[in-house]
Amino acid sequence: MLILAGYVGYRTLRSWNRKRPLQRGEGAGGSDRRVDDIMVQDPVCKVYFPKKEGIRMHTDDKEYFFCSPACRDAFLKDRQGV
Ligand SMILES: [Zn+2]
Repeated sequence: MLILAGYVGYRTLRSWNRKRPLQRGEGAGGSDRRVDDIMVQDPVCKVYFPKKEGIRMHTDDKEYFFCSPACRDAFLKDRQGV
């Protein structure tokens, strides 16, 4: 239950943080920044986050990005559980 509450708070914080720079930083950021801020989706909690901030993981020939170690662990667990 605590973990779930932490998740919701974390996700809310993240989406809130994401909105602010978009409103204020128009024209301030260079085009280079955009390449750096590619948004990827966490396959576990479905949240979007900048690729560079994610946790990278290689499985087989695929590459995954997770918003947190907890999501990576959950993903691994799910794969093993099949
Ligand atoms: Zn996640």
